[in-house]
Amino acid sequence: MRIVIVGPPGAGKGTQAAVLSDQLGVVHISTGDLFRAHVDGDTELGREVKNYLNSGALVPDEVTNAMVAQRLTDDVCRNGFILDGFPRTVAQAQALEELLRDRDCGIDTVLELDAPEDEVVARLLARGRGDDTEDVIRHRQQLYREETAPLLQFYADRLVTVPAVGSVPDVTARALDALRTRA
Ligand code: ADP
Repeated sequence: MRIVIVGPPGAGKGTQAAVLSDQLGVVHISTGDLFRAHVDGDTELGREVKNYLNSGALVPDEVTNAMVAQRLTDDVCRNGFILDGFPRTVAQAQALEELLRDRDCGIDTVLELDAPEDEVVARLLARGRGDDTEDVIRHRQQLYREETAPLLQFYADRLVTVPAVGSVPDVTARALDALRTRA
């Protein structure tokens, strides 16, 4: 199964993607995690993207797309994956369509985690990652509304939406149910 997980920062994409990848036996690919590993490892890419992450800005599409292209080896088409944090713009989604077409596959399902903004902002403030300060959080939410939410239209034919409020296992159960309706 090839899945994209979409939702505002703080909706629990990373948490759910990790559990779902375990349960479904597919790899979890998080662009946020990949970028943070580069920043922590002080690689050339890490130095290039550090300021974007710290300010909550989107890393430029060509940089992000190139990193994803490298990660999406041929076997991901056969074995399946959950993409978490990518695509985040319609241009990235178009690049992803092309990348996968070249590898002879496509996205089966786009899983939207839906949660009210007040709730996700409160969760991020409680999490307190380096980029979870109030100004940066607000900026990331705004970018989600402006840049990422249009993906829901782009993927309308493959979209399933689940409420991302309640306990982690509750949300996972809803997500698995929703994915089953698409299988
Ligand atoms: P969250 O969803 O909580 O904001 P992520 O770990 O998904 O956290 O992303 C953290 C940061 O990494 C983003 O604010 C952005 O700077 C960068 N990033 C991650 N994915 C992308 C992407 N697809 N395009 C551009 N920037 C990205």
